[in-house]
Amino acid sequence: MESAGLAKKPQAEGRAASHSLSIRNLSKYYGALAAVDDVSIEVERGKFLTLLGPSGSGKTTILMSIAGFVQPSAGEILLDDRPITNLPPDKRNFGMVFQGYALFPHMSVEDNIWFPLRVRGVSRAEAAKSVTASLELVQMAHLAKRLPTQLSGGQQQRVALARALVFQPDLLLLDEPLSALDKKLRADLQWELKSLHARLGTTFIYVTHDQEEALSMSDDIIILRDGKIEQMGAPGELYERPVTRFVADFLGKSNFIRGQSTGADGNSFRVAVQDIALQQAGRVAANEAVLIALRPEKISVSRTRPSLPNAIEGRIAAFNYYGSSYHLQVETGGLGDLIVTVPAWKCEIDPAIGNSIWLGWEPDASVVVRDN
Ligand code: ADP
Ligand code: MG
Repeated sequence: MESAGLAKKPQAEGRAASHSLSIRNLSKYYGALAAVDDVSIEVERGKFLTLLGPSGSGKTTILMSIAGFVQPSAGEILLDDRPITNLPPDKRNFGMVFQGYALFPHMSVEDNIWFPLRVRGVSRAEAAKSVTASLELVQMAHLAKRLPTQLSGGQQQRVALARALVFQPDLLLLDEPLSALDKKLRADLQWELKSLHARLGTTFIYVTHDQEEALSMSDDIIILRDGKIEQMGAPGELYERPVTRFVADFLGKSNFIRGQSTGADGNSFRVAVQDIALQQAGRVAANEAVLIALRPEKISVSRTRPSLPNAIEGRIAAFNYYGSSYHLQVETGGLGDLIVTVPAWKCEIDPAIGNSIWLGWEPDASVVVRDN
């Protein structure tokens, strides 16, 4: 399906349809609480940027500041280098989609979508083509005459999306738009949103607390914690190279091993954990305390001692079967309990409680993180 009807917005002619956004030293205080604390973000045009963080980390406050519904206590917001910090929301031409669908219940689907054009003085006849194009974009054209109450949650969210896109917004802001939907539907809509983003080329700023959603959809992710940026980067970069314990724990799962560096060994260094010697990629001076984050899927499992630099024997204390994988909880003694994920189709050990198995990993399977 093409977005031909949408592309014909007269005021957009001769201009790139996509915009960049700069947030500079943004803070928002509520009394003594810094909901947003000196946050700076550069979003290149056409990117899909996700703000990821636990509840209360300041995601919505940042998004609402971009939209103009929250007045920042300090800082500046610029669209294509033009300050918009003091521009009222209705002058910003940004599309918004929230968790609750927020459709007008007494209006049909097509009237809901016409609405943002209507407030811009576009008649129903003039709007018809754009409304249809927008409905087709979200595969809802066949339900144009329905009322919101006659739609499923996923369909309502599609309509909300069409309504946010019909006036060709300069930015699309999405605040946990899928979190009210069940898992399967959420996954379907993740694919659709991503493909919509690719087709439209509009800059998307997406808020979620769901790490899988962030990893699967975004060009870049910003991880927020207590109103501050903890780390930002491409999904793979954040997953493979978390800088702090918080990131390693929030994005995916990690085992944490605390030890003491005993000095360099080639491209790695040795880490003493009680009487166990591990090899870890990177460099840390001797006698420093280190915290290592080790992903459960990067640990290999075998019946006999593996020929890997890091190996330890353990006992299966618990396991969960997920169809595609087993999650094992393995008591190792010296390294505490480790969580290990094993693809079920190539699980070479018998995953029964009490069984002894060997765990192993390469020095570059794990990363050193800051403890915080
Ligand atoms: P998130 O979207 O990440 O869950 P929010 O941006 O909604 O977080 O909130 C960040 C912090 O600011 C929270 O501690 C929240 O309670 C507080 N907060 C948000 N809005 C207000 C408000 N209008 N008045 C007082 N505190 C607020
Ligand atoms: Mg929120």
